[in-house]
Amino acid sequence: MIASIGVIGGGQLGRMIALDAKRMGYHVIALDPQEHSPCGQVADEQIVADYTDLDAIEDLGNRTDVVTYEFENIHIGSVRLLEERGFAVSPSSKVLEITQDRLREKAFVRASGVPTTDFEAIERPDDEAQAAMTIGFPAILKTSRGGYDGKGQWRVEGTSAVRSIFAEQHGVPLIFERIVNFAKELSVISTRSAGDDVVSYPVAENMHEHGILITTIAPARIDNDVAARAQAMAATIGRRLGIVGTYCVEFFLTRNDELLVNEIAPRPHNSGHYTIDATQCSQYEQHVRAICDLPLAPPRLHANVVMMNILGTGTGDHLMGVDQLLEDPSIVLHLYGKKHAVARRKMGHFTMLVDGPVDDAVLKRAHDAHALLHWE
Ligand code: AMP
Repeated sequence: MIASIGVIGGGQLGRMIALDAKRMGYHVIALDPQEHSPCGQVADEQIVADYTDLDAIEDLGNRTDVVTYEFENIHIGSVRLLEERGFAVSPSSKVLEITQDRLREKAFVRASGVPTTDFEAIERPDDEAQAAMTIGFPAILKTSRGGYDGKGQWRVEGTSAVRSIFAEQHGVPLIFERIVNFAKELSVISTRSAGDDVVSYPVAENMHEHGILITTIAPARIDNDVAARAQAMAATIGRRLGIVGTYCVEFFLTRNDELLVNEIAPRPHNSGHYTIDATQCSQYEQHVRAICDLPLAPPRLHANVVMMNILGTGTGDHLMGVDQLLEDPSIVLHLYGKKHAVARRKMGHFTMLVDGPVDDAVLKRAHDAHALLHWE
């Protein structure tokens, strides 16, 4: 029987996993280098250690019944060590190996019969010639590993830019992608159990600014057949990965209703925050259920929803305007307990729950509510 859960990574996703796990009676131990991390604040205990500290990782394995992680840029050696020592860890190192690397991930998605954005690998200085020929410019260049929230990403207009970025990055592999003139960005949050059940929440529609998620609408304003195709693709990917837990597949929807996978996150995802307030079982609880081998719950929405991220601006650490924000009874506020509201840092989010469809008037209300907030 599983009574305790270890979470590698102390950010907001870990915090939300821990909050649901605590409600379900589990003992939770977080591992993060930063003391009083967002997850550590709500967990029973926190091991303060680096993700590469294998002694600390083994300690976490010894003290819990199952270990999970809340972001994919952790040291893969940690997950392998836990597996070698016979500790339960979900998702597996095989899943992490694929999803940590954009090149490997896209090749995997294609091999699963699911379309992706066109891409070429830039692994040697000369590779840019091939990429320029097959894909052309302008294009998006991304580090194959380690990037997130628009970091490690450049729009490039010509081969000299590619060469200088490759040199600046000390020759780490890059992925060269065709810029997709998408109609919408979508994501599907799914959970797969060890018994191969897959449940998928309604498709979410996402809006980004400078590579960082700002707004999610659920359900997405798309045709039912597009939604069904996106969910089927997400289920195929989850099954082919053999993942146990919650994961996210991000898509571009082209103007011809074609779905192209942009990336996979092997963990709960920012675009699934809406499931906390708008469903009976959040993506976090679903994750806990999967890794603890409990039945999955129906992913039904009981309200339509807009989620907006609250980012730091670097102008102060106190969030002002909360009293006015909460005058709207349809809003639920979540703050992550981060001390410093550094510019572009994800500090919290709110969800606006509505009965009818999310139309332009609802979106405007959400944006107006968001504009009430500022940091001093
Ligand atoms: P990613 O880190 O790959 O999720 O990229 C962050 C955001 O940058 C995406 O959500 C898109 O808004 C944008 N983006 C990334 N790749 C592309 C692409 N190939 N074409 C158009 N926009 C992109």
